[in-house]
Amino acid sequence: MSSETWPQQLRRGLINLEQLNERGWLDAGAHSKELALAQNALDIRVPAEFHAGLAEGDVSLARQVIPAPAEAFIAEQELADPIGDERFSPHPGLTHRYPDRVLVKVTYQCAVYCRFCFRRHKVSHAEENLSFEALAPAYRYISENPQIKEVIFTGGDPLVLTDSKLEPHLTQVEKIPHIETIRFHTRVPTVLPERITEQLCERLGGSNKTVWIVVHANSASEFTEKSLTALKKLRRAGIALASQSVLLKGVNDSKEGLVALLRALYRAGVQPYYLHYPDLAKGTSHFRIPLEAAMALVDALQGQLPGLAIPKLTVDIPGGHGKITATANTCQKLSESCWAFRSPLTGDWVKVQYP
Ligand code: SF4
Repeated sequence: MSSETWPQQLRRGLINLEQLNERGWLDAGAHSKELALAQNALDIRVPAEFHAGLAEGDVSLARQVIPAPAEAFIAEQELADPIGDERFSPHPGLTHRYPDRVLVKVTYQCAVYCRFCFRRHKVSHAEENLSFEALAPAYRYISENPQIKEVIFTGGDPLVLTDSKLEPHLTQVEKIPHIETIRFHTRVPTVLPERITEQLCERLGGSNKTVWIVVHANSASEFTEKSLTALKKLRRAGIALASQSVLLKGVNDSKEGLVALLRALYRAGVQPYYLHYPDLAKGTSHFRIPLEAAMALVDALQGQLPGLAIPKLTVDIPGGHGKITATANTCQKLSESCWAFRSPLTGDWVKVQYP
């Protein structure tokens, strides 16, 4: 285990095209017009934890973090806010889509910038960050709505906040009697494992609410020795662990790749939960496989893995119509690229055209 602190490890992340080009990780070269557009839309941050794998040519890591010229192509159907967060935002930084839970976006910075990010219209843009004080109306709203049982800290990645920046948010939520669980959506355990300090584990494990951490990971290669240690520390602290992954072309869209990822999660004590069909975020067409192929891939996992290790293939219906598990009861194929989804919010069928 290295003695590097997590801020040092964060600073070793590569943040521009020139650095990636020097290492020979850019096919198009540092001066490609398309790559400049990609960088403008979403910052670059290639975490130090991935460097060894990238140097070995691991495509499942490279496609997630190295900008591609294809990001400059924006399909007509792609949206700035693909899952409709803003439609359900009673106050800045707060999304209240389902009655019993809310999202609180405590930062829009991350320890890695994923080239398929669904919230790329805000993520990495420092001017979008809200201070704790600016989130006061959001916390007041949560206190005044007793049907809300869960607060999900997200963003961005809530665990890139320092302990002292995170503390007021935690304390605030812990004071609300009707909140039962606090959930963190984070990539930190695999991309910045040093951040999972004993102090953080102690703080989260000692909360008066049940704490869940939903770990975002997409490739078996992300489970390095350090990330496995980080996950073990969280489990030892009594924190419940589940996962979310995105089904990504060229990363995990083969049966073998997916089985390896899910086994790695399961072995690390993280229950596979969501397997997201990529949202219609701008410039992400090159990550999407046909939905029918995605459903067949997940069907093929039956019998290959314990049921506990098989995630739900999830479509967040574009436009803010809610999340569904993709099954014959919730999805209807209308034509080669057109689907209808049954909204869990209204029961209505919503027609979606894919690029
Ligand atoms: S960690 Fe999450 S929020 Fe951050 S860039 Fe990746 S997908 Fe987007």
